[in-house]
Amino acid sequence: MNRVILLNHNKYGLGVKDMIRRIVTSPHPALRIVAKEATEINEQIKTIAQDLEDTLEVNIRKAVGLSANQINECYRIIAFIDIETRKIESIINPKIIYYSKDDLVLGKESCLSYPGVSKYITRPREIIVEGYSKMGNPVKYSMTDYQARIVCHEVDHLFGKCKVGISK
Ligand SMILES: [Zn+2]
Repeated sequence: MNRVILLNHNKYGLGVKDMIRRIVTSPHPALRIVAKEATEINEQIKTIAQDLEDTLEVNIRKAVGLSANQINECYRIIAFIDIETRKIESIINPKIIYYSKDDLVLGKESCLSYPGVSKYITRPREIIVEGYSKMGNPVKYSMTDYQARIVCHEVDHLFGKCKVGISK
């Protein structure tokens, strides 16, 4: 059981329950699992997406994104901060349909699941990612630079391959 009920007094006021989940750390096996497509966006999937957003929100001083693997769920779901609006978004079944393979940038990354580790990782400067919102609507985002880096990092997790935690 890693579901914990916390009261989030800051954002919503007293008494509103957020589902804050424990973030697993290496060598937890969930970090190496290839997550499954959500074949339908049912209550279970919506709940995982919401929990991921809530868990990111309480960790926002030290994290900019989370993947479902990191809360020990095996579906393709990510949450991340929109660095312009500071809002937390999630994508179900995210798929990177374009990346700028001739325009790459090197940047430092770390990960709550690999505490104390940071690495320089090459990422595309620009990506287009599509998937579904937690309401079940199709979404498509074009992202650049740090925003693209965040989403690339989270999508790697869904393949069980966080580059921060892999030695090569
Ligand atoms: Zn990570």
